[in-house]
Amino acid sequence: MQENNQGSRHRVFCNYCPGFCCYRLPGSILFVTAIDINRIARHFNITDGEVRKKYIEGRNTFKVKADGSCVFLVDGKLSKRCSIHMASPQQCKDFPYDHPCPYLFREDLLAVISPKVEASYLL
Ligand code: SF4
Ligand code: SF4
Repeated sequence: MQENNQGSRHRVFCNYCPGFCCYRLPGSILFVTAIDINRIARHFNITDGEVRKKYIEGRNTFKVKADGSCVFLVDGKLSKRCSIHMASPQQCKDFPYDHPCPYLFREDLLAVISPKVEASYLL
C-alpha cells in the first residue's frame, strides 16, 4: 500500500516532466506488441502493416525523432504529451508500474523537473 501511495505521489511529477519515459535513453526500451499495433491501427483507421511501416523500427519499438523522443511525443501546454494517449502501448499505460518513477532518482533528470514543481507551489 505504501508503495502505491508513493507511486501516485511521484506521478504528480509527470505534469512537469518533459516525458523522459518517452525518450530512448540509455538502458530503456519500449516494447510495442502486436496487440498495441492493432490498437494504434484502429485508432488511425489504417492497417497493422501501415502502422509497422510508418511508426515501427525493427520488430517491436517505435521510431524516434532526432532528439531521441518517440514519434508520438508532441509539445503540450505544461509539458510534452502523447498524441496517441488513448491508444498508446500497454507498457506506456503501465509505466512506472505503481512504483516511484526510476527517472526521478537521476539527479540530472530531476534537476529539470524540480524547478517547475517548486514554481507551481508559488502559483
Ligand atoms: S519519466 Fe517519470 S515523471 Fe516523467 S512523465 Fe514519465 S513517468 Fe512521469
Ligand atoms: S506512445 Fe506516447 S506514451 Fe508511449 S512513448 Fe510514445 S509518446 Fe510516450
